Amino acid sequence: MTSTSLYKRDGAALSPLQKLRFFPLAVSGGAGSVLIEEGGRELLDLSASWGAASLGHSHPAMRTAIDQGLANQAGASILSGTNEPAVKLAETLLKLTPGANDRRVWLGHSGSDANETVARVVPAATGRSRIMAFSGAYHGGTQGSMSVSGHTAQEGVAKSDGLTLVPYPDPFRPFEDDPSGEALLAHIEHLLATSCPGDEVACFFMEPIQADGGLIVPPAGFLSRLSKLCAHYGILTICDEVKVGLGRTGLMHCFEHENFVPDIVVFGKGLGGGLPISAIVGPSWIMDHAPAFSMQTLHGNPVSASAALAVLTTIQADNLAARAQNTGGILMDEIARASAQQPEVGDIRGRGLAIGVELVKNENGAPNAELAQKTVYRAWQLGAVFYYVGMNSNVLELTPPLILTEAEAKTGAQILAQSIQDAAAGLVSDEDVAEFAGW
Ligand SMILES: *Cc1c(COP(=O)(O)O)cnc(C)c1O
Repeated sequence: MTSTSLYKRDGAALSPLQKLRFFPLAVSGGAGSVLIEEGGRELLDLSASWGAASLGHSHPAMRTAIDQGLANQAGASILSGTNEPAVKLAETLLKLTPGANDRRVWLGHSGSDANETVARVVPAATGRSRIMAFSGAYHGGTQGSMSVSGHTAQEGVAKSDGLTLVPYPDPFRPFEDDPSGEALLAHIEHLLATSCPGDEVACFFMEPIQADGGLIVPPAGFLSRLSKLCAHYGILTICDEVKVGLGRTGLMHCFEHENFVPDIVVFGKGLGGGLPISAIVGPSWIMDHAPAFSMQTLHGNPVSASAALAVLTTIQADNLAARAQNTGGILMDEIARASAQQPEVGDIRGRGLAIGVELVKNENGAPNAELAQKTVYRAWQLGAVFYYVGMNSNVLELTPPLILTEAEAKTGAQILAQSIQDAAAGLVSDEDVAEFAGW
């Protein structure tokens, strides 16, 4: 394989601190939903780099926007002077995000710095010291964002002093055997009335689909009821739309499936279409807390802001949310059909182009992490790129570019089903995957 040389150079030059590798992927280019390996082999990208490449690769609107942002570069930061793309992006986000009238936008580089800023500013502005979040949640990889996360991959990391984690409502592996989520709501209600007093809680972090925790879709009505409970205590609801927002689930915002409007919305990943940018949209009484409270030099740089504007404009102009709804439906149906005879497929779930396939052991339905690891490796061999997520590392996650075609969705489903079948039949050896720790 000709990609070996690039992959080997990567091994020699780049630190493993930031590597989460599942197979020896070395990319030399890409177009649309296709990645090209060194040597020219084409791979169907069903991850889009964890959802970041929302418009796929080398999208003309992105190229034009980035080129314009650089052709007449309005500085490199928003800290000590403003620029048109950053202001326009903020105005656009305010317009397309439902919520109260009096709101403000903060621009960052990543989901991590955005969530970290929320976790700092809400307690500071409200004077409340407690934060609630879900077990299994991944809100970022910086100290402050990790401290309000509940993902098993970050178990060794110190949590925020006032953090209380509760289980995520998982209909497939439900809390107290109650897939409706009622028992869990009662549990949270009890906590707020006792050991975690509701009037001391500043905010509740929630993902409208818990992505890295296992692509879990909450039961209907759960988040809207939780948000009412939060409102009762004056707890601000924080909706982390970083992975599943901005058209991916078939609506502009994933929380719109849940019939509630969060107080604060966090965007990242797909917002930049591959460039680093994130955003918080929240009420002015929080977001006006203090100048210079949370800033990094390149925040609001006009190049990333231009790219984000192109992403938002394209999602709206090309109806990419509706398109994701349609292609996602095809992808999910085809996976279900092609893997109907596969006992290891325990659950197929998702919304639009955010899809999870939970792999289980045939004998007892227990999580099957080994099969997930071998399946993603086999898929790479067969020509598709996707990874796995979950507290038990056993859920295949599909977050392809929003521009995925129907034909690509069908091909992707075939490769995925074949990969599970091959991996279950032992076509991938322990040795093949030994050097890939995954997570
Ligand atoms: C990826 C992710 C983050 C962190 O974003 P980074 O850009 O990696 O910092 C936060 N929240 C969710 C839901 C994510 O999926």
